Amino acid sequence: QDLKTSLVNVLLHKIPAEAGITRIEYEGPRIALYTKNPGFFELNDQIVPDLVNSMKKRIIVRTEPSILKDEEDARPIINDLIPSELGLKNLFFDGALSEVTAALEHPHLIDKLPDFKPVSILEKTGWRLILRKSSHISSSSLNTIYQTYKSSEDERRKFLSEAGEKIFRSKVSLAPEITIHTLGSFKEVGRSSMLITTPESKILLDCGIHPGGKSSQDSYPRLDWANISLDELDAVVISHAHMDHQAFLPALIKYGYDGPIYCSEPTLPLMTLLQTDFIKVASVEGRQQIYDNRDIRNEIKQTIVLPYGVVTDVSPDIKIVLNNSGHILGSSTVHLHIGDGSHNIVYTGDYKNERTMLLDSTTWSYPRVETLITESTYGAKEDIMPNRFEVEKNFVNMINSTLTSGGKVLIPVPAVGRAQEMMLVIDRYMKSGQLLESPVFIEGMISEATAIHVSYPEYLSRELRSRILSEGEDPFLSDYFTIVDHPSSRDEALIDGPAIIMATSGMLEGGPVLEYFRQIAPSEKNRMIFVSYQIPGTLGRRVLDGSSQVSLSEDGGRVKILDVNCEVNRIEGFSGHSDYDQIMRFIGKLRPKLKQVLVNHGERRKTENLANSISRMFRIPAYSPNVQESLRLL
Ligand code: ZN
Repeated sequence: QDLKTSLVNVLLHKIPAEAGITRIEYEGPRIALYTKNPGFFELNDQIVPDLVNSMKKRIIVRTEPSILKDEEDARPIINDLIPSELGLKNLFFDGALSEVTAALEHPHLIDKLPDFKPVSILEKTGWRLILRKSSHISSSSLNTIYQTYKSSEDERRKFLSEAGEKIFRSKVSLAPEITIHTLGSFKEVGRSSMLITTPESKILLDCGIHPGGKSSQDSYPRLDWANISLDELDAVVISHAHMDHQAFLPALIKYGYDGPIYCSEPTLPLMTLLQTDFIKVASVEGRQQIYDNRDIRNEIKQTIVLPYGVVTDVSPDIKIVLNNSGHILGSSTVHLHIGDGSHNIVYTGDYKNERTMLLDSTTWSYPRVETLITESTYGAKEDIMPNRFEVEKNFVNMINSTLTSGGKVLIPVPAVGRAQEMMLVIDRYMKSGQLLESPVFIEGMISEATAIHVSYPEYLSRELRSRILSEGEDPFLSDYFTIVDHPSSRDEALIDGPAIIMATSGMLEGGPVLEYFRQIAPSEKNRMIFVSYQIPGTLGRRVLDGSSQVSLSEDGGRVKILDVNCEVNRIEGFSGHSDYDQIMRFIGKLRPKLKQVLVNHGERRKTENLANSISRMFRIPAYSPNVQESLRLL
């Protein structure tokens, strides 16, 4: 008897007839109860949690399509029912899930409107209402996601149902055996990827590219070496939206991967944004595009977003839970629970074991963990960051000295993460008068990424969350900021006089930052401040390491030599990565549960150093494998 048949029996037993259940379907890792009476479950709101508890499966209630109102009929009803005080800006219908998302200008006012009952929308239209804060600018990647959902309802319903059949297929019981195959970002930083296999399943964790890679052999994950066919994969899990963790994913889809992708809710729009920009920049700069927009749209259809902290079946013998890793919006540690609890792996992804202005500190409490896979970007003993107060003082002083002498400050930033942290820091210090007032120019893509931050306040730090959700503020808006949304407005940023400029990419590998770099680097009165990690092999790393001349390719493929005479500084204290002490403290907290530690995502010397420190200090076996190794974990 398969799981679905036994579920039907149990559920029919437990749910009263007036619930109006018509059928039970898999919806990816969830079990969907279709009902003609969705309001019933809202009134009896203990039924579903009780079922989830007793069955240990994710269960969700969906409206039977025959009673779901057409979008054209539902739209005016919903418009009427949502109080005007909330400032409804847009409705997005997702027919595959019978959910409607309302983007609201003032969702924080909902507590002051006791008469507004979202359940009335469900009862009158069949659509379940999801509320989202709308942001000051619209995000084209969020729009792409909603449009893709809308144009692929039947396709996605079918995809989710088939994915469910696979996830809940019956187990072939074999002795538990777990192996990790390292495909990228071991003894290096970039193209993060690893394959976890059991006799039952194959799961890919991360699928990034190496931004400084010189050939495809060292730019992309070594799936060729792993020698698996893509339809053997049960799932791909993405820890966070940075390019070195996800940018190869659409290529995987182009080559035939048609199974589920799991990531946190904000990771989907952020990675869509970055991938779309990646191929746009490649085409502008005449580089080879490894995939196109169609592959990105297919990726959206195959992605199943997960909230933090929810246990989700991804194959017959593997469950995963994503938790906050404190690195960027939506960044997650991935906890894999394998077999009947026989082995637990925690993959940290990139993590920050300290709170920042933007995010809360990483989660460290895991019920069980035998194998830890930790990053080691700052894994050398000397990688200790000064305290945050010192870092900010130093940053403010550097900028002030350049602005006073009429120079410009260029801060290269990845669009996601450091950019938003720096916006908060600059705004706070200018408001307080410690940082000289000057115009701050922010390049277009950063502001779209920022808009996505505003749409997911529940993933931000406690303080920002309450400023957005309780006070209705937008903490990323500031009178000092000018958004550069067209190349022609770069001229304004570059006219004589003091200014601060934030632009992508963070490692000077393409993007608008290069325009500014060309103008700013030659003059001694200007300054560049690097606030994020620079991968060896990138232009950013060469400049940071003191190159006084660098070569830049111009339009038409000519190469130009550029003198770098400006001040170049590095400030590590704003990093979204844990420093050496923070990594060791994190491991110290997990220690009683750990059997072994694998170290990845660091330069060779740092991974080796960190593995040594861990085995000496905690007396736990710790390894730093190379790319293309297979290790038995159990
Ligand atoms: Zn990252």
